[in-house]
This record gives sequence, structure tokens and C-alpha cells, in this order.
Amino acid sequence: MLKQAVIKSINQGILSPRLWMYSNYHCNLACTYCLTESSPSSAKRLLSAEQMLSWAQQAKKLGFQSIGITGGEPFFRPDIEDVIEEILTYLPVTVLTNGTLFHQKRLDRLRSLARHDFSLQISLDSASPARNDAFRGTENFNKVCDAIPKLIDIGIRVRIATTVSNQSAFESAAIRQLVRSLGVLEEDHVVRSIVSRGRATTQKMGVDVQQNYLMPELTLTTEGAFWSPFAPTYKKNRLEKDLLITTITDPVSKSTALLLSLLKDFQMDPSAEESGFV
Ligand code: SF4
Repeated sequence: MLKQAVIKSINQGILSPRLWMYSNYHCNLACTYCLTESSPSSAKRLLSAEQMLSWAQQAKKLGFQSIGITGGEPFFRPDIEDVIEEILTYLPVTVLTNGTLFHQKRLDRLRSLARHDFSLQISLDSASPARNDAFRGTENFNKVCDAIPKLIDIGIRVRIATTVSNQSAFESAAIRQLVRSLGVLEEDHVVRSIVSRGRATTQKMGVDVQQNYLMPELTLTTEGAFWSPFAPTYKKNRLEKDLLITTITDPVSKSTALLLSLLKDFQMDPSAEESGFV
């Protein structure tokens, strides 16, 4: 019955087919606009491999069609390839990553995952190395532009996410051209504004995003189940709870049922799609 309701909501386009997990919150970078205040020294808030696999199995039984893994930087945890490989036996997987940790040994390991329905979404904010690195850290641009063709070469589908603030038409054209030159399809390039949550708020960056701008996408963390992957953010080291659905994450049917009950009167803002939040 719950599975039928999930599938119906997905087919109606009012629920994302993807269930998200925050694998960890620490990161090798400390971007100026980071929603989760991540850094090498931030709390890890690590999900166990067993927990992630269990949620993926439950998600499949509930009618979800894919898994998203985000953080923090998922590739900052040593077991992430094994976790991805296990989840891929149940559902397709997309991992959000900063793209800076793809050394040769990791590329060799990822090669075996390329035969599955597996993709990476890598952040690249500007065609100007200086502007990109001002947000994301020294040498970020070079590392990302080096990694993307190598990943594509071993058969991994790569998407690029560009997070912008006051982007000019010239900058927009330049990043689109760069994305294409790296071998990424135009439809695999996502552009959206900086969201004013987490560190972006304390840095006075980004745009306010209300709930009706965010596609409902069940998102699980060590702290609970949330409305969207933009929701479980940290500001001044405190969890922002405005988009928390429940602190109960097991069984996943509980948070799924609660999310579905919130969808009855929910209407997306029609301009959300063109802003890149859907
Ligand atoms: S935005 Fe992403 S890459 Fe940057 S610090 Fe946050 S988690 Fe790390």
C-alpha cells in the first residue's frame, strides 16, 4: 500500500524517485558557501556501511528508484567504493563529490563500477580558475578539470554542478563551453544559485529558499529524515531543523509515510525549476 503510494507520487512528479543519504559531513575542502559547514576538522556524522545498505534495501522495497549519496565529501571516507558497489546491487547510485580525490588507485577501483548505473556529480563553479578557487580552495579548478576526463575515460557518467552568485552572461557562456570541452553533455550540467543556509548564511551569501522551492526528496542522515538534500544543514555548528520530517530513520517506511502525508497540500513554486532547485 505504501509502495503503491510512493510509485503514484513519483509518477505524478510530486516526489523525487531518489532517496538521499548523507554518508558523512567532513570534507577535505571548506568552501565559502558550504551548506553543511564542512571542513577537514568538522564532525564526521558518519553513517555506517551497514546502515546505508539497509536503507537502500528498504528504499527499493518502498518503490524508490535510485540512491543519492552526498556529504561532506563521500570520497573522504575510505570505504565509500565498497558501499557504492553494494548499493548498486539494489538500485542505481549518484554520488555528489568535489572531484579532488580521484587519484590513480581510486580510478582503478571505480573502473569496475562503470558497468553499473552509476554516476558522479562534480562541482565546478566557474571557467575562471581564480573565481572558482576563491569559493572552493587553491588548485581546486586544476584538480577537477584533470579528474573529469579521466573519469569519463574509464566509463563513468559525470555530471557537473555549477553553483553561482551573480553570474554574468559572459561567465555563463564560458562555463558552458568549458563543460562541453571536458566531455560532459549539456544536459548533464546543472546550474543553480548559492542557497543561503549553513556557512553561506554566516558569510551573507546566496538566496533564501523556501520549502516550496525544493522538490520533496527523502533525505536521511545520522540526525533524522529531511525534506530535501538542501535541508540537513548546519549553521554555527547547530543542525537547522526547519525542514526536518522526523528524527526516526528506521524503518524508512516511517519517514516515507510522513513525507507523503506532507505532500497532500503541497505545491511547488513554478519558478523553482528554472532556478535549478528541481
Ligand atoms: S561545499 Fe562540498 S566540497 Fe565544499 S566544503 Fe562543503 S561539502 Fe566540501
